[in-house]
Formats: sequence, structure tokens, C-alpha cells
Amino acid sequence: LNRRLAEFGTTIFAEMSALAVATGSINLGQGFPDTDGPQEIREAAVRALREGRGNQYPPGPGIPELRTAIAAHQLRRYGLDCDPDTEVLVTAGATEAIAASLLALVEPGDEVVALEPYYDSYAASIAMAGGTRVPVTLRPHEGSFRLDLDELRAAVTGRTRLLLINTPHNPTGTVLTRAELTAIAELAVERDLLVVTDEVYEHLVFGDAEHVPLASFPGMRERTVTIGSAGKTFSFTGWKVGWVTAVPELVSAVRAVKQFLTYVSAGPFQYAVAEALALPDSYFEEFRRSMLARRDILAKGLTEAGFTVFRPAGTYFITTDIRPLGEKDGFAFCRALPERAGVVAIPNAVFYDDREAGAPFVRFAFCKREEVLREAAERLRAL
Ligand code: PMP
Ligand code: GLN
Repeated sequence: LNRRLAEFGTTIFAEMSALAVATGSINLGQGFPDTDGPQEIREAAVRALREGRGNQYPPGPGIPELRTAIAAHQLRRYGLDCDPDTEVLVTAGATEAIAASLLALVEPGDEVVALEPYYDSYAASIAMAGGTRVPVTLRPHEGSFRLDLDELRAAVTGRTRLLLINTPHNPTGTVLTRAELTAIAELAVERDLLVVTDEVYEHLVFGDAEHVPLASFPGMRERTVTIGSAGKTFSFTGWKVGWVTAVPELVSAVRAVKQFLTYVSAGPFQYAVAEALALPDSYFEEFRRSMLARRDILAKGLTEAGFTVFRPAGTYFITTDIRPLGEKDGFAFCRALPERAGVVAIPNAVFYDDREAGAPFVRFAFCKREEVLREAAERLRAL
């Protein structure tokens, strides 16, 4: 492995999912649902395959039906008007969208300011682009992890090229508020920064929290690359259909990179996701409601088991603090947990540059059937 990537070995998700299989544990580590998305959408993929739609290279930017559906979704949900021909790009999941955006927009030596803890592919993608990551740490404050806007401001230097934002935020479950997003937008405009914003959990916000796309703030439309994914919203993580929306100059830069990474994304699934995005609002509402119920089951179980629970306002992850259990090293805790309790979780330290700061935090996924979550909670109570 070259020097830029030497620090990145196997992803924690692969490691922990393998451990779950090897030990027969309940896997609350890697974030994938244990029930697939809507039957009618699966049928749409089968129909496309059978009818020979998408079995040969689809168009580079994505099939027109899907680009139109993505633009319609942005307009319907957020009032954001995108031209499907020039302002939308279909990617191989959000992962490719993140990598291609950074490779397209970052020059070697540029600084990229990212919220820490950060989703693991951010660090590797910044490194692939030759950039330097500058983490701004979300810290526990009154039951959730919050961004310190002064720290964010102080992290921006003359070498900063872009801000890499994620809301709703994996792994903490934080949803940035309108006031926080306004401050981020003002900073980006003032310092003339680009922003890449990963909004793959846009449909998973609970209670009073609301998801507001950064691109909708004044001065942001022209400097923001917004990333979405069908994997999260429709429970088809294996299909690897994601997308980017941005102004034409930014989309064509990302497309220039994408064409040499994967050239195009798998065809038949694009037809199916186009239909999924047109599902009625009731689908999205029911999906959200079912995840909210699961959040509450797992949060209650973890609290009863003695963890400090940071109740997430969004995503399908719960971050906990293991110190009340007399533990302090999340890595050691997660490596032992399958043997001790038959449950797999993720040590948040992998999402930190400052591993010490992340050491006491452990993430549990709740995108699992309710009975599975109840069984996991039962096992954890016996710790
Ligand atoms: N961003 C975040 C914050 C994620 O949690 C994930 C994991 N699903 C991704 C991006 C990657 O999404 P995809 O599976 O569409 O590549
Ligand atoms: N996004 C998922 C998570 O955070 C994992 C996806 C992956 O394994 N790359 O658990």
C-alpha cells in the first residue's frame, strides 16, 4: 500500500461483521438493515433486468429517469431546484460520491476540515486526494454531541479548500440545527470555501429535529456538493446507488473523476431507485417511524444495561459511553463483547484522529428487527 494510504487497513465494518459471523453474535456493528427494502422496488429491479433495461453500460451521469427522480425529490422535499441534465450525477453509492468529490476538488496539500468523529471513508478519501484532514471534534454536551462553532472557525486557515459536513451525523446521531448550519454557511461564504455535505440519513430524523440541506442556505447553492444514497433511505445497501447534486461546474468536476473510477453505476438498480424516489410521502414517514420505534427499544435496553446513551436525533446509530460499566477502552470492549455477550458493536475511536478522545464511546446500530434488538438488549443486560 502506498504511503498516503498506509494507515488504512481493513475497515472496522468488515472486521466486526466477520467477527459477528465467526462468533454467531447479533451484529449491531455495521449499519445495514436486516430486512430488505420494499418488495415493489425489488420487482422493479427484476423487471428492468428481464426487459433488458440497464444490462449494458448506462449513460455516464446515470439514466435520465433516475436523474429526473433525484431532482424531483430535491424539489419536493426541500424546494431545491436542480437540472437533471447538468446538476445530478449517479454514483456507485455515497462512498464513491465522497471519494470522487474529494479527488475532483482537493489539490495535494489542501486542508479539508471534517467533523470528528468522521465516517471512515472520509479520512481515506482525503488521503487519496493528497489533502490534509483537519478534524473539528463534536463533544458531549447535555446528552448529545455538539459542534463548537468557534472551533470550526479556528480550524479554517488560508490553506483550507473545503468543509466536509455530515448531517444527520454518523456515528453520533447529531442533526445539525438550522442555527449551526447558518453559521457553517456564513463561514463558507466568508472564507470562500467549497462544502461537501453527506446527507445520506436525510430521511432518518426524529422528534423535533429537522433535516435542512446545507445547499438551501444563502450563498451555498453554488459552492455545495450534496450527497445522497438509496442504500440508507430504501434499505438496499447492497445495490450501491448514490448520487451527487450540485451546480453544473461542480457536477462535471465530480463526473470527470467518476468516469475513471467506475465509469458508470449498475444499470437495472437505477431504474428501480427511480421508482423508489417517487414513492409517496407515506413510505418515508413509515420508514422513519419504524426506525424511531427501534431506536427507543435499543436506547432503553442500553440504558438498563448501564451504558450512558446519547439518544440520537437522526441516523440509525446510537453512540454510548462505556465508562459507567467500568470500561474505558472501546476497542478492547468491542473485541471482547462477542464472547462476553454475543453482540457486536463498533468502537468510535476508529472515527477519531485523537483516539484517546474517542476511546470511551461505542456505537450500536438499530436498523434491525425489533425482536433482534430486544434479544441484544437482554444479552447486554447480563454483562
Ligand atoms: N456516508 C455515511 C455517513 C454513511 O454512514 C455511509 C454508510 N452507509 C456512507 C456514506 C456510504 O453509503 P453507501 O453505502 O451508499 O456507499
Ligand atoms: N455506513 C455503514 C456504517 O457506518 C457501513 C458501510 C460500510 O461498511 N462501508 O456502519
